[in-house]
Amino acid sequence: MKEIVILGSTGSIGTQTLEVISNNKDMHVKALAAGSNTNLVEKQVNKFMPELVCIYNNGKALELKKCLEAKGNHKTKVVTGMDGLVECATIDGADIVVAAVSGMIGIKPVIEAIKTGKDIAFANKETLVTAGHIIMPMVHKYGVKLLPVDSEHSAIFQCISGKYNNKPARIILTASGGPFRGMKKEALKNIMPEDALKHPNWSMGKKITVDSSTMVNKGLEVIEAKWLFNMDFDNIEVVIQPQSIIHSMVEFEDGAVIAQLGTPDMKLPIQYALTYPERRYLPGERLDFYKMSQITFEKPDLETFEGLKLAYEAGQAGGSMLTVFNAANEKAVAMFLERKAGYLDITRIIKECMQKHKNIDNPSLSDILEIEQDVYSFIESM
Ligand code: NDP
Ligand code: MG
Repeated sequence: MKEIVILGSTGSIGTQTLEVISNNKDMHVKALAAGSNTNLVEKQVNKFMPELVCIYNNGKALELKKCLEAKGNHKTKVVTGMDGLVECATIDGADIVVAAVSGMIGIKPVIEAIKTGKDIAFANKETLVTAGHIIMPMVHKYGVKLLPVDSEHSAIFQCISGKYNNKPARIILTASGGPFRGMKKEALKNIMPEDALKHPNWSMGKKITVDSSTMVNKGLEVIEAKWLFNMDFDNIEVVIQPQSIIHSMVEFEDGAVIAQLGTPDMKLPIQYALTYPERRYLPGERLDFYKMSQITFEKPDLETFEGLKLAYEAGQAGGSMLTVFNAANEKAVAMFLERKAGYLDITRIIKECMQKHKNIDNPSLSDILEIEQDVYSFIESM
């Protein structure tokens, strides 16, 4: 039996992970964690009967505890806050932790999970972007597996698996281009949250959907690829592939390019991370090459979608600049979704935060968390 912990069980990745677990008889949920969605967590607890559940919000956790007890469930322990998240991530007897919270809140639980020797199925890219220099050496030190869930990185992982020690010469990350592909800056001025929340091909959480529209998501993925596959930024290229059929590609020294193709369904990379190195049957649509009209490619427009350019700049700078890039984006996107900032303010805010920052090399976890708060305060004072 594979014992699984899901951090972010109520989100887009979390709920799809539970679907995958339901379809695999040898997988079992050991612990669940979410932010505040008590209603859904209660349903998940009733169905999967985990030993431990964390609701980050203290008041909501108490609510859940009362509900579970009222219904006779005295088996599932309810915990809260960062300590609760860490308790879930480090629970005895779990084999793998699915890191599927959104944002930097995942850093500490992931680090603690690795210390207890658990493999990580990694969706939570913000954690790797800001703390990759801490996490990657720990992965080697504790001998755990870091299995990518992000579709592009899973694609690359699938392309390089079984290729002995042949390191890719180049990674080609594909991007759909989002809902505003082909538009110029002037036309983006009046974009509202409801416009940015319509992704052409993928159905995902709100934050990543906005990030996809600004191409900051692709920028985060470039940095994620650098950490996961130990590549230089000069060898990570982004190509727009609007139909989202090619999930990413790898070029080897001799020029051979290997790609992974499929319908856009996150359950494939989720299941592959949970069953690796085995592949299993997964219900769902298959590619029909006779019906598929075309697969096209474009160069990204870095002037309009400046977020991608800024990500490369943050990546080349390294150190704490990665935290500044990510934290500024997290805050700016939250403000945009609350209608407190305009669409083009997102990249303007990131740029201003990066310009103001004095970069430090190898920031510690407490440096990262302090810089995150400094960035938030600076944006609030703008
Ligand atoms: P969602 O917004 O749908 O879900 C986020 C999850 O995190 C929810 O379960 C939420 O709980 C939980 N959460 C938020 N804050 C906290 C907290 N403080 N403590 C505990 N749990 C918390 O996001 P997605 O599923 O879309 O994305 C999750 C991660 O995966 C992101 O890093 C994203 O970039 C990455 N990813 C997502 C993809 C996708 O297809 N969705 C594809 C590739 C990567 P609650 O509901 O209670 O707030
Ligand atoms: Mg992706």
